[in-house]
Amino acid sequence: MSPVPPSRDRLRIAIQKSGRLAEPARTLLASCGLHWRESRDRLFCYGETLPVDLLLVRDDDIPGLIADGVCDLGVVGRNVLAEQQAAQVADGREPVFREWLPLGFGGCRLALAVPEDWGWQGPAQLSGKRIATSYPSLLARWLADEGVSADVVMLSGSVEIAPRLGQADAICDLVSSGATLAANQLKPVATLCESEAVLAGPVAGFDAVRGELAALLMRRLDGALRIRHSKLLLFQAPRDVLPTLLPLLPDAETPTVMRVDGADDLALQALCHGAVTWQRLEELKRAGAHGLMVLPVEGMLA
Ligand code: ATP
Ligand code: ZN
Repeated sequence: MSPVPPSRDRLRIAIQKSGRLAEPARTLLASCGLHWRESRDRLFCYGETLPVDLLLVRDDDIPGLIADGVCDLGVVGRNVLAEQQAAQVADGREPVFREWLPLGFGGCRLALAVPEDWGWQGPAQLSGKRIATSYPSLLARWLADEGVSADVVMLSGSVEIAPRLGQADAICDLVSSGATLAANQLKPVATLCESEAVLAGPVAGFDAVRGELAALLMRRLDGALRIRHSKLLLFQAPRDVLPTLLPLLPDAETPTVMRVDGADDLALQALCHGAVTWQRLEELKRAGAHGLMVLPVEGMLA
């Protein structure tokens, strides 16, 4: 049983201290209007704009900190969260943390990779083989689902060189571009988990004060994520060209159309979620739009 979390009136979010997720996590939270004063040891950052503090830790510690109530929320790869959830389930325990929101960065996948010279015929080929991984619970679950019996060799780092060192026949590791696998004469043959950074939190939720703070943060994160790649496009156009023009708008929400007093043309504004390239602007102009202007979007509250 986890200890009952102490009652606090501030929200505490754990993020990675250094590594791939550290900078993007801070940048995303800062874009939600959070600013912090750093402590001397640089492990704790006191929230100055809202009662939301940061704890800077190793990513693997984040689910446990949430489970123990030391932290309320955390930014962590789905791979880490899923592995620790799978370990809890394998132990017959109920998971106490869950994914609250995918955050759109830190994309990678947990893949099974075999030597390039294996002719891959399917999971049954792994029967009786040794597979090196830092994700033993996810691998064990996948092997069980596939009905394959193989030896799971737990390694905490440099998994990709295990086959060359004779420690294992295959590996199960994180892959993004695949360059590391190729450099070690390995090829990916199956995906166990599609991953990205996620906001993790307790299954049980919070008391009223922290619950309200968490809801506020979720609303701001939702807005920040929605406008991440968005631009506001302003332009004018004669009414009769609208049917050809609107399909050209890049991933736009239904545009707002305004009549300008004394002018024949309409003024339009469209929130575009895709890239608004020069090419797109030129296409719109050819279709009859003019006075095109692209503006950055600083905030959004749906
Ligand atoms: P820590 O010191 O915090 O334990 P770490 O070495 O475990 O750091 P990083 O290598 O910084 O962690 O990776 C953190 C997370 O970044 C991973 O858990 C994963 O979710 C994500 N990630 C994205 N692309 C990759 C990749 N190519 N290899 C490894 N992790 C990746
Ligand atoms: Zn780690």
